Amino acid sequence: MSNELPILAQTRAFTARPLKMLIGGQWSVAASGQTMNFRNPATGEILGNVPAADSQDVDRAVQAARQAFDDSPWSRMRPRERQNLLWRLAELMERDAQELAELECLNNGKSAAVAKVMDVQLAIDFLRYMAGWATKIEGTTVEPSLPLMPNDQFHGFIRREAIGVVGAIVAWNFPLLLACWKLGPALATGCTVVLKPADETPLTALKLAELVQEAGYPDGVFNVITGTGLNAGAALTRHPGVDKLTFTGSTEVGKQIGKAAMENMTRVTLELGGKSPTIVMPDANLQEAAAGAATAIFFNQGQVCCAGSRLYVHRKHFDNVVADIAAIANGMTLGNGLDPKVQMGPLISAKQQDRVTGYINLGRELGATVACGGEGFGPGYFVRPTVIVDVDQRHRLVQEEIFGPVLVAMPFDDIDEVIGMANDNPYGLGASIWSNDLAAVHRMIPRIKSGSVWVNCHSALDPSLPFGGYKLSGVGREMGAAAIEHYTELKSVLIKL
Ligand code: NAD
Repeated sequence: MSNELPILAQTRAFTARPLKMLIGGQWSVAASGQTMNFRNPATGEILGNVPAADSQDVDRAVQAARQAFDDSPWSRMRPRERQNLLWRLAELMERDAQELAELECLNNGKSAAVAKVMDVQLAIDFLRYMAGWATKIEGTTVEPSLPLMPNDQFHGFIRREAIGVVGAIVAWNFPLLLACWKLGPALATGCTVVLKPADETPLTALKLAELVQEAGYPDGVFNVITGTGLNAGAALTRHPGVDKLTFTGSTEVGKQIGKAAMENMTRVTLELGGKSPTIVMPDANLQEAAAGAATAIFFNQGQVCCAGSRLYVHRKHFDNVVADIAAIANGMTLGNGLDPKVQMGPLISAKQQDRVTGYINLGRELGATVACGGEGFGPGYFVRPTVIVDVDQRHRLVQEEIFGPVLVAMPFDDIDEVIGMANDNPYGLGASIWSNDLAAVHRMIPRIKSGSVWVNCHSALDPSLPFGGYKLSGVGREMGAAAIEHYTELKSVLIKL
């Protein structure tokens, strides 16, 4: 199917060539010689293969990153030069935006048109925002008291220093954007990076590596290893030469990585799963709320960590809002993301398709009603946008992350009840409130246990706003000034004068 749709010659050429990993400035095969396939989820066909790295390759990449951090032109670079290099990388991504979007579409299934204006553009904007930080990393001076040395004078100051070698592991739902969320602050602060993209989606990480080289980064500053999570990912998390791990993925794997990090006292940031509530208050603009709630769950096929996957609507509007969302879902065009008319692509894999349809079937078995959608189809890994009602707050479909285009909807009667329901979940990544009652909204915001709260919008992320989770949704924050803190260490200095 993809062959019939327009695609740039360079996109086709990129997928057709033998793909290698970037280690210490060299394009490398795996030491074992092993490779692994990746697929086009819109067709289910094998799209290509990449080296399947193991611990030997990971070790080589960490050593290259260590050398670049400790002793290379990079380690001596001034902030202005780091800023300019990041800016140059953003320019190259802008030049190749269409190719990056098409690679993301072919490998992930998402719409190429949407990937260009969302994934790629947001990644570029984020790198530019982080380029600005390179020249604004500051320490502080203090006046020490030291009562036991009353006759001496001291000067105390606190340096903020790059943390070192960063091991970055990302999920498949926004391959390029998630990689840039790690790369931006790492390169702004002067760290070096070993990135492991998801097993399913290595393409844009390798294209990014090409652009990093073209931008003029010294060898070893950015390394990409491709391989499975169990092999390459686990080896990276255990490696004592890594100073910081930054992970985006499932809570289950995040817990393992957190434990592995503590073995070596490696600093760690974990961006994990979510089950975010969308709350429609009685005074809301209902049309906007229904359209917003539909986008909150169906964007990116529902494979969004902060997707609005639980909908709470005031009882007096419940039926209308659910009917409006179902109408939007039924009107969506599903298909190959290379087709600009397509509004929803396939899920990432057969495994994910089975997982999502499995949850829908579980809902049916437990007595829930499927208001629209409810089935998967092929070729490719499609699932129709689905809304499920007649569910109870304790239902597994309400408590567990499905990570697909499946919305569970429940009515509520008052604010206390809906706050209780919103917080009654192990995750705490995001939440949206749809209302024009400013006082009620402000009273609700502090009571919601999540890292982000959006009002009259959902999943609206900006580089200036820290993003991350409460509870099982993770540890630490990405974006904003908070990201700079997570990629630096503090050093206290005391000088006796
Ligand atoms: P996953 O946890 O299975 O895999 C994520 C990455 O971890 C992949 O690169 C994988 O190869 C690697 N990995 C797997 N096992 C590993 C191990 N034992 N050691 C080291 N690395 C390992 O997650 P997924 O299914 O690819 O992604 C979906 C999940 O990601 C969802 O739960 C979603 O909510 C979450 N996510 C969170 C955010 C966020 O910012 N909070 C963003 C996107 C996705």
